[in-house]
Amino acid sequence: MKTHIIKVRSITHITHNVLRIVTTKPPLYNFSSGQATELSINKPGWQDIKRPFTFTSPPIDNHLEFTIKTYPSRKGLTNELLKLKKSDELIIRDSWGTINYRGEGVFIAGGAGITSFISALRTLHFQNEIGDNKLIFANNTEEDIINKKEFEDMLGDNFINILFQEKSDKYEHGCLTKDFLKRNISNFNTYFYLCGPSHMEESVERILLNLKVDPKAIIKEE
Ligand SMILES: Cc1cc2nc3c(=O)[nH]c(=O)nc-3n(C[C@H](O)[C@H](O)[C@H](O)COP(=O)(O)OP(=O)(O)OC[C@H]3O[C@@H](n4cnc5c(N)ncnc54)[C@H](O)[C@@H]3O)c2cc1C
Repeated sequence: MKTHIIKVRSITHITHNVLRIVTTKPPLYNFSSGQATELSINKPGWQDIKRPFTFTSPPIDNHLEFTIKTYPSRKGLTNELLKLKKSDELIIRDSWGTINYRGEGVFIAGGAGITSFISALRTLHFQNEIGDNKLIFANNTEEDIINKKEFEDMLGDNFINILFQEKSDKYEHGCLTKDFLKRNISNFNTYFYLCGPSHMEESVERILLNLKVDPKAIIKEE
């Protein structure tokens, strides 16, 4: 598989444990919104440690962006990314993945699962085609919400948050139950895009099928 070396242009914390890494883009490199690549760090001992990460920049941009939740306690690649500085190098490979935008619908994300949808939502927003797309975003606490201000500006009332751990006056509290989905979604004859922890995806998919959503209209990573 062909590898490409990319250079870090900027690296910033966007939540307490999530990094935004903007890099150069190899000439003619192609991906579609929702796709990922195997990423490594181009320094001794790390070139062959590969982990999958989704591109969060729109394909049309002349840079690449990754939005990466870090797990310092695992001492793996995401911990090493915390030491990264401007001009350091990363290695990427081909793009792959099955989540792609098919039409207006409901995006349901848990935690870092949102990364599968950021590029598509930004592209729609940029093209003035955000329409009635809705984002339901489940997190543990408010401070875990990735790109909160951007989604508020982009989606207005179609940005719905639910918090699993923290109780707050602003957001619903608890799990993504059938009752919650029925209260927040008016049309089940639409596309559903799912990405999050596997137990969350399985539970939401079961509820959607129970609500007679067409299985072919449920889009998730295979
Ligand atoms: C298609 C795809 C796209 C993805 N895109 C993104 C993205 O855009 N952004 C993002 O943030 N994430 C994304 N992920 C998840 C991301 O790949 C993982 O978070 C990443 O691989 C973690 O790498 P790591 O080396 O830091 O830790 P890991 O490889 O998970 O762990 C390193 C070591 O820590 C130990 N360990 C593993 N899990 C645990 C645990 N739960 N508790 C304690 N110890 C543990 C193990 O010994 C393991 O070998 C994506 C995943 C997939 C499949």
